[in-house]
Amino acid sequence: MSSTIESAEHKALRTAVAALGQRYGREYLARVAREGGHPDELWADAAKLGYLGVNLPEEYGGGGGGIAELSIVLEELGAAGCPLLMMVVSPAICGTVIARFGTDEQKRTWLPGLADGSRTMAFGITEPDAGSNSHRITTTARRDGDDWILTGRKVFISGVDIADATLIVGRAEDARTGRLKPCLFIVPRDTPGFGRSVIDMELQAAEKQFELTLDEVRLPSSALVGDEDAGLLQLFAGLNPERIMTAAFAIGMGRYALARAVDYAKTRQVWKEPIGAHQAVAHPLAQAHIELELARLMTQKAAALYDAGDDMGAGEAANMAKYAAGEACVRAVDQSVHTLGGNGLTREYGLGSLITASRVARIAPVSREMILNFVSHQTLGLPKSY
Ligand SMILES: Cc1cc2nc3c(=O)[nH]c(=O)nc-3n(C[C@H](O)[C@H](O)[C@H](O)COP(=O)(O)OP(=O)(O)OC[C@H]3O[C@@H](n4cnc5c(N)ncnc54)[C@H](O)[C@@H]3O)c2cc1C
Repeated sequence: MSSTIESAEHKALRTAVAALGQRYGREYLARVAREGGHPDELWADAAKLGYLGVNLPEEYGGGGGGIAELSIVLEELGAAGCPLLMMVVSPAICGTVIARFGTDEQKRTWLPGLADGSRTMAFGITEPDAGSNSHRITTTARRDGDDWILTGRKVFISGVDIADATLIVGRAEDARTGRLKPCLFIVPRDTPGFGRSVIDMELQAAEKQFELTLDEVRLPSSALVGDEDAGLLQLFAGLNPERIMTAAFAIGMGRYALARAVDYAKTRQVWKEPIGAHQAVAHPLAQAHIELELARLMTQKAAALYDAGDDMGAGEAANMAKYAAGEACVRAVDQSVHTLGGNGLTREYGLGSLITASRVARIAPVSREMILNFVSHQTLGLPKSY
């Protein structure tokens, strides 16, 4: 039985990661983003300390832990102002899918590099004409001898420029039924026909988003991850960690903003007392703190269920955790910016840009409305309108 009280090991991990985060902080990430670079030093340090691969199997150089540990790492880096977005995709989705369903060769080829940070893998499911409706994706894979030929388009895919490969969700025709079933393919960055163009986003982040074209991309049979007939199951095995990690990302960002606002409210004085003495300032901050704590509790539940092998139970909990964390993050950031008055929008205090960044947690990887749809139908048994 997992406990809702955090274990001593998890607390120690939080403290250790927080110390690493403090050494870098928001200044570091802001500078890297401004200069158009990537947080390579932090990525390498986190890897060296075993944090990036904490969820991956020990026999491939990982820490042998689970998403519970990996989400602690991301949350604490976020709370220090320097979250690593690629952790959501590289070790969490791609590492999990390969560790659980990959061939021995795929595991040997990818997992040690994903664990020690020397290799990174992006993840591409979203398509321009499918969006939230991933049943509608049209990137198709067809057989050509032993090879696969992939054709299609993807959009908003993060970090494709820095990733050694992208795990692409496509659909292959079932030889018996003729129906299209989801399949996962590892597409190395420089494969002929695999094109990318950067999307101009209103985000101050080192990780960029890309539109991808797959124009008759030829891949060897070894590019297919896992079983051709179990694509959906394998896909969901990767999407639950993604939701849990997005929740951790959101909670970290919310905590970072809230801590800045609390510091400010303790010292900023325009009447007799610091502004934090006014309940109109204090209560919304207290409320934001409570909401972040609640969201973390749900995230811990989702991670515990997932790590215990309960994919179905984890699915519902991971969706709820992502919802709660996204909402808590948006509100915490909004209130924090407001607490700083005009300074909330200055570059010096650096909170204004989080208004845009916090919205990502409400949209991606699955929007607030799609989670409400999921809970309406799956949990409450209400009828569907679409
Ligand atoms: C910064 C960033 C990074 C990202 N990184 C990645 C990545 O690495 N890999 C990847 O695959 N994708 C990535 N995405 C894509 C992301 O997962 C999608 O943006 C998200 O799934 C929503 O899809 P969409 O943008 O097409 O919105 P749409 O599906 O067009 O939805 C638009 C709006 O309509 C609402 N809506 C749609 N259908 C319904 C319905 N049935 N009921 C109620 N409301 C509905 C949605 O909730 C939303 O508010 C990223 C996005 C962002 C912003």
